[in-house]
Amino acid sequence: MNQKPTLSNLAAIDAAHHLHPFSDMKKLNADGTRIISSADGCNIWDSTGKKYIDAFAGLWCVNVGYGRKSIAEAAYAQMQELPYYNTFFGTTTQPTTLLAQKIASHSGPNLQHVFFTNSGSEASDTWFRMARVYWKALGKPTKTTVIARKNGYHGSTVAGASLGGMKSMHEQGQLPIPGVVHIGQPYWYAEGGDLSPEEFGLKVARELEDKILELGEDNVAAFAAEPIQGAGGIIVPPSTYWPEIKRIAAKYDILLVADEVICGFGRLGTWFGHQYYDFQPDLAPIAKGLSSGYLPIGGVLVSERVAKVMIEEVGDFYHGYTYSGHPVSAAAAIENLRIIEDEGLVERVRDDIGPYLKMALASLEDHELVGETVCVGLMGAVQIAADKSTRRRFEKPDAIGSLVRNQCVDAGVVLRATGDRMLFSPPLIISHSEVDQAVEALRNGLDWLKDNHKE
Ligand SMILES: *Cc1c(COP(=O)(O)O)cnc(C)c1O
Repeated sequence: MNQKPTLSNLAAIDAAHHLHPFSDMKKLNADGTRIISSADGCNIWDSTGKKYIDAFAGLWCVNVGYGRKSIAEAAYAQMQELPYYNTFFGTTTQPTTLLAQKIASHSGPNLQHVFFTNSGSEASDTWFRMARVYWKALGKPTKTTVIARKNGYHGSTVAGASLGGMKSMHEQGQLPIPGVVHIGQPYWYAEGGDLSPEEFGLKVARELEDKILELGEDNVAAFAAEPIQGAGGIIVPPSTYWPEIKRIAAKYDILLVADEVICGFGRLGTWFGHQYYDFQPDLAPIAKGLSSGYLPIGGVLVSERVAKVMIEEVGDFYHGYTYSGHPVSAAAAIENLRIIEDEGLVERVRDDIGPYLKMALASLEDHELVGETVCVGLMGAVQIAADKSTRRRFEKPDAIGSLVRNQCVDAGVVLRATGDRMLFSPPLIISHSEVDQAVEALRNGLDWLKDNHKE
């Protein structure tokens, strides 16, 4: 097969017809898009035949790695048996129901119900409406405002982007919508000033209490946060943060929402991120690792407290998607979860490869441009610093991260940069030697930055 002409044809067709999400389209069309054509394990190949280690699991999602034939076979078998039926108006399909049961077997006694969606963004829209419907059903219709965090990420629909705390997203489309407010994030390195991480963790957690008091408890529906902020830069909160949030959420009558879209399904060495931080959410959106990205599917885990009201008081929730609980996606997800269970991938992250990645990233701390490294399970970040003794950052953090990322990609390692933080979120099956290669590529990228970038 002659690949070269295919490549240039496809790039030209892409430029002519395809509008890309989260990409500078003008630049993309000029440079030509990279076409990814195959994958196996932790590796992806582009259409020129170049091989990469995917240290980012696609977009935080390919937890079981690429090339799992059994997932393809489960989807194929389901498609032949029953390619589609819906879950509206009193019907279900076998894989949809069995998937709900399987998820519930890992989410603990308080999260035994699932509402299915096709994505994490739709899960945000779902719990946002559900939280308000819940309070209204309890005779508290003024409890509508949701408190979320600056630099949080909850998806790209109107509710998702509003709940998220990304300024650049808010500026496009007059967001956030009314009824969403944001408090600070536990990003000690950039914002902690002279406080210790522990003091800073308490301080930003207490912004939640201040905000509840300012708005009035009777007007607040929920607080939403990722156990560890992902797209915001893998912001691992100081140890004091979640215990204080837990205290505040228990003191006031609000719902606690844990966005598990990244942290769920093994990434932190636990089935869910709230288990790692030992708190009980009332609602927990899920997606990504649920199917390892083989097919689109998401959902919201619903606590007994909320489910009881939704079932007994609300009855009919006028909400859902044509493909809520799609049987083919559900069949793929069941097989994906079976793999995670049978191969012990959650335990592997907790006991083996998670600690290994943490150690490998920490080995970069001797580098002149590395301010800090953090790692929980297989979510790890390296903070670039202009002057590590004072935690001073480079003037244009976004540009810095992209420069280093491009070096890594050229060297055959795909990772992501958020600003000046370099992010690792590899498949849960990544080997020790692949971790070594990925970290080595980052070290070389940092050396390149030191030699080539002058402020
Ligand atoms: C990716 C993500 C979402 C949105 O999921 P989509 O499937 O892209 O809609 C929501 N929350 C978090 C924490 C995410 O990382």
